[in-house]
Amino acid sequence: MFRIPRGTRDFTPEEMEKRRYVERQMRTTFQVFGYREIQTPMFETLELFTAKSGDTILEEIYSFTDKSGRKLALRPELTAPVIRFYVDKMQMSPKPLKLFYFGSCFRYDRPQRGRYREFRQAGCELIGTNTPEAYAELIALAYFLLKNIGLKNIRLNIGDLDVLSSMLRTLGIPKDKQKQLTPLIDKSQFKDLTSMLHTMGIKKKKIDEFVDILQTTDTQKILEFLNKNTSSKAKIEELEKILDLLRNSFDIKNYHVNMSIVRGLDYYKGLVFEIDAPVLGAEKQLCGGGAYELIPLFGGKNIPTAGFAIGFDRTILALEAEKFVFPKPKTDIFIVPINNDMMDISIKIAQNLRKEGIPTDIDLLRRDVRKSLKYANAINAEKTILVGPKDVEKNCVTLRDMRTGEQQIIKIKDIPSKIKTKKLQ
Ligand code: AMP
Repeated sequence: MFRIPRGTRDFTPEEMEKRRYVERQMRTTFQVFGYREIQTPMFETLELFTAKSGDTILEEIYSFTDKSGRKLALRPELTAPVIRFYVDKMQMSPKPLKLFYFGSCFRYDRPQRGRYREFRQAGCELIGTNTPEAYAELIALAYFLLKNIGLKNIRLNIGDLDVLSSMLRTLGIPKDKQKQLTPLIDKSQFKDLTSMLHTMGIKKKKIDEFVDILQTTDTQKILEFLNKNTSSKAKIEELEKILDLLRNSFDIKNYHVNMSIVRGLDYYKGLVFEIDAPVLGAEKQLCGGGAYELIPLFGGKNIPTAGFAIGFDRTILALEAEKFVFPKPKTDIFIVPINNDMMDISIKIAQNLRKEGIPTDIDLLRRDVRKSLKYANAINAEKTILVGPKDVEKNCVTLRDMRTGEQQIIKIKDIPSKIKTKKLQ
């Protein structure tokens, strides 16, 4: 009768178990890197998102007017809300401030596999530092967030918008004209880029060299080119320091310098990076981030900011594509009252186990033993406890191992300890 809105999804218990597993692992990684979790509202004032990008973003946004005439929007991303929060309430906090979050985002995107209108992001913001070690740690965090959940094949690309801009300046393209070129670089439309550079009067040899550097993944070749051809020496040294730290201190060897990484959003400045899962094909970008500037625009005192967002849904898709075996949560114990008279005592036994934190379920359908055991199997219960009048008379129950079929009679008072000692073995 009712259909789910386009671009949204329902999640089954099995899917939620996968999602919660990934979230738990990611939360731990954020925490071991010294980050603390925050939360911001699902909707914000519309202006928060148009302030930087202008009205063009309206097409991608779910915006609405509330009953009092306020213009609001479901958040399409989380960086602007977090910076609003920072400017409002956290400017006096000790620096650097390391904040992480999980949250749903909403975009009026064209839905396809890996692209939804409601999707989840895991992300963080690092406020108050721009040292190479801060940036290296940020990139390493993104990398390990994805590695620690069990992803095998990811590709880390690192670029720098200041370096790219100085490359373009060296080519003879002033800052105001560079804006026309970045969308082409972002979408890897190198043919169109070549012809546009041509119409801008740049020599063919120079264009070929530049486009070649944008396309190559040979880090050494890029760095040599940059050292010879661009004027921002300090920036290049900083990039080299970040790479050196990644390689030697964080033990991340498989990164790629990629000067064509420019990121779609308008607020990035300097360092940018992306992590892809090539196994996903078209929608393969799992993570995007870098250094950006938003604080002054929101009325705060300017200090360096950087961060990244990981697409949670795509991360799950990538794990599935790699045939990752997610840990399967199960009910440890399923309680079967042999007849209705055994119900009260069975519930008591269940509650005692639950008090001990042991996942316990009980037959609520008054089924016979055979059907109950079948159900216990279906929900992957490790053990069942059969509660029958003869055993109960002797203050006992029958404990059945669902894998081996082995049964033993145990005292009711010993149940939690029996099960716990078993668990610890
Ligand atoms: P962005 O804020 O555009 O840099 O996106 C950060 C990450 O969020 C991307 O790398 C994707 O993994 C994910 N993402 C962005 N848009 C969507 C979407 N419509 N559906 C699912 N994931 C998305």
